[in-house]
Amino acid sequence: MTEATQIRPDTLTPVTPTLQYWVGMAKPESHLFEIRLKIQGDLLLSSPLDLTMPVWTPGSYLVREYARHLQDLRVCDSEGNPLKWQKVSKNHWQIQSKSATEIWVFYRIFANELSVRTNHLDSSHGYFNGAALFLYVPGYEKHPIQVTIEPPKNWIVSTILPTVPDQINTFYAMDFDTLVDSPFEIGTHRLYEFEVLGKPHQLAIWGDGNVNPERLLTDFEKIITVESELFDGLPYERYLFLLHLSNQGFGGLEHKDSCSLIYSRFGFRSSDKYHRFMQLVAHEFFHLWNVKRIRPKALEVFDYEQENYTPSLWFSEGTTSYYDMVIPYRAGIFDVKGFLNAIAKEITRLQTIPGRLVQPLSESSWDTWIKLYRRESHSDNNQISYYLKGELVSFLLDLLIREKHGNQRSLDDVMRQMWLEFGQPEIGFTPEQLEQIIESIADTSLTNFFERYLYGLDELPYDQYLEPFGLKLIAETKDETPYLGCKVATEKGREIIKFVETGSPAEAAGLDIHDELLALNGFKVTSDQLHDRLKDYKPGDTIELTFFHQDLLRNCQVTLTSPRPNHYQIVSVSEPTPQQKRNFEGWLGCPYHNL
Ligand SMILES: [Zn+2]
Repeated sequence: MTEATQIRPDTLTPVTPTLQYWVGMAKPESHLFEIRLKIQGDLLLSSPLDLTMPVWTPGSYLVREYARHLQDLRVCDSEGNPLKWQKVSKNHWQIQSKSATEIWVFYRIFANELSVRTNHLDSSHGYFNGAALFLYVPGYEKHPIQVTIEPPKNWIVSTILPTVPDQINTFYAMDFDTLVDSPFEIGTHRLYEFEVLGKPHQLAIWGDGNVNPERLLTDFEKIITVESELFDGLPYERYLFLLHLSNQGFGGLEHKDSCSLIYSRFGFRSSDKYHRFMQLVAHEFFHLWNVKRIRPKALEVFDYEQENYTPSLWFSEGTTSYYDMVIPYRAGIFDVKGFLNAIAKEITRLQTIPGRLVQPLSESSWDTWIKLYRRESHSDNNQISYYLKGELVSFLLDLLIREKHGNQRSLDDVMRQMWLEFGQPEIGFTPEQLEQIIESIADTSLTNFFERYLYGLDELPYDQYLEPFGLKLIAETKDETPYLGCKVATEKGREIIKFVETGSPAEAAGLDIHDELLALNGFKVTSDQLHDRLKDYKPGDTIELTFFHQDLLRNCQVTLTSPRPNHYQIVSVSEPTPQQKRNFEGWLGCPYHNL
């Protein structure tokens, strides 16, 4: 696994690869990538030859069935004679290669999904992820691979893979994992080159909007520098940021030496949105250590054929999410209030989701394959995101370690230790090994902590951990409207109930998802009006709602209750002690009175 860093563009002398791909896009507006695959050498020693397509891509834990976009497959030998093949499962083909010394496989991939984990091809650009584009030969994932891109005239190609000398638009991947880990952007994108800590970096931007690339590069450099300090250096030769600007997209996908980002094209002017973008950058960049190299055991060797189960995504994603707030603060992009507000906002999110009392954090990670990426109307009632709760558990662990060691130790030391023991050698860690390292840095048993907050359902004790730093959490109710507990939206001119919160008056009264709301106390009510109409009542009042449930007309009596906290803030305690101030200053590196 460490060989990856030995391959440099300037020293590359690849052996003749046994797997060569060509990716054409003669009619980009058709959304069809045209792939040719040439197979030769020892892969052909046995017949039939198996070819499969991944069902998921690392970093996005859902079986996406990439093979459903494949069409027009045909196979021939070096003379152009067709070879027989058959499909043996949804993503698995068998080719009667017989005594052929060279096989050509032709297929096309429909690419019209603009996200960081899929493929997109149109008249403006092409973007692909290897897992969603390339067939591979099971058992030969470690064989070197060569890829040649055949772009339309005037389009350029950006990827982190090294180029093969003297061959136009031809790239080399040491193995299939590396190919999957190296997305391609092909088009007329703008390309910015910059250097940080002596290493070359590139930013490729597809799409227009109100982005200011110079400002981005300045802030990217700050983030790279701060993260490099945390992990004591940058473990790559060069790094590529791919940025897609679209109407309202948001997302990122991490890779070892690059990342793909998608963001709202006009999301760069307001400071709130700009900060959100820089969190996204800090997050995906942090992943180059945490999850790309520091990997849970289940992700040490990727199985592209099926789900790869782990309870540790709370650390891989949640801790990374905590650091996507910490890093911009250290980089000077947030101030201290911005940092604490960002955390308080996440606390508000967690504390207003009923599913936090139903699904333990470790289980959220394990079940990501069937839940997190497959949200439905009821989801907030029975599940919790390992990003969200994971980042807040990481926050508490950071405070716990800092308080116990007077800020001489912190979660940073956990990250560094994980990097040294598991990341650098790329050995997968078990949940027990992760817990042991956290305990060794904290220098205390955390069995109870993990039982309650990782494997159990206890509410997170924010104040207990904030208090030593002179801080406390306050819960506010910003809106005095009595509580009903359902969400309604207009759909095709009808007022449809989209969510009914567990334990709410709406649930108690029997309202259900998909019911059509008609009237409140006999008067028609729309989703736009509902909130305002409820203001005419007070907690304890009973109202009558009229609605259709499965086409049956119904009435129900609902007793409204008091509004619940919907806004949390982290504020200073009223009379901080000198010790509390010292703790605060040691943690955040600024005077307590800045708060
Ligand atoms: Zn992530």
